[in-house]
Amino acid sequence: MNMYPEVLNLYGDRGNIICLQKRCIWRGIEANIFEYNLGADQEILKNADIILLGGASDREQSIVYSHLLKLKELIKSLIEDGVVILAICGGYQLLGEAYIDASGRAIKGLHILDFITKAEGKRLIGNIIIETSLDVFPKTVVGYENHGGRTYHDYQPFGKVLKGYGNNRKDGFEGLIYKNVIGTYLHGPLLPKNPHIADFMLKKALERKYALDSLEFQKLDDTLEYIAHNRVKELYM
Ligand code: GLN
Repeated sequence: MNMYPEVLNLYGDRGNIICLQKRCIWRGIEANIFEYNLGADQEILKNADIILLGGASDREQSIVYSHLLKLKELIKSLIEDGVVILAICGGYQLLGEAYIDASGRAIKGLHILDFITKAEGKRLIGNIIIETSLDVFPKTVVGYENHGGRTYHDYQPFGKVLKGYGNNRKDGFEGLIYKNVIGTYLHGPLLPKNPHIADFMLKKALERKYALDSLEFQKLDDTLEYIAHNRVKELYM
């Protein structure tokens, strides 16, 4: 489910959903993409297996917040039930208590998770490489970040920063993992360049959907994907 794609749509974050769908189709698994737009019926969210909350500017973030608030209890229960969520940058910040913008104004978050984000100093922009805390191979995740906010939390991080800034430039961590939620500052083609993360999400979603203990996946030919992945490492690490 692509949440508010008309608003939460920075840097083509929706490409991540297309990547997930393709990886299902290549394995003969049917996968449908639905869009949850302003005014949509909550019921359709209940059946979602994977939810994307893309990035957005501060302004868009505050617009979406007032709509998302109605869904807070539902999203919270879906998260506790193990739904897979990829929340990127502004979408990641929205899961926390608040985002304090550069002028000191608080843009409320859903406060489903206990953390806060503050805009401090210059924006953190550039290529980023992390070593993920998830049980996947390879361990590296490559991407691009562009955020003013610094996020501080005590949850499991998505990874340790090898190159770039991550959550706040200070503690050396990037993103957040809670149940099957991945919160991250990595924008754009995160999943196409990191197919191991895409498959991690798909496995979790299928295991939840079909109540499986664990799932063996058909391997795909990811030669091109890892050429892109390794090129980023060669260039920036
Ligand atoms: N409010 C966010 C920030 O600049 C949004 C950034 C984003 O989604 N790229 O920190």
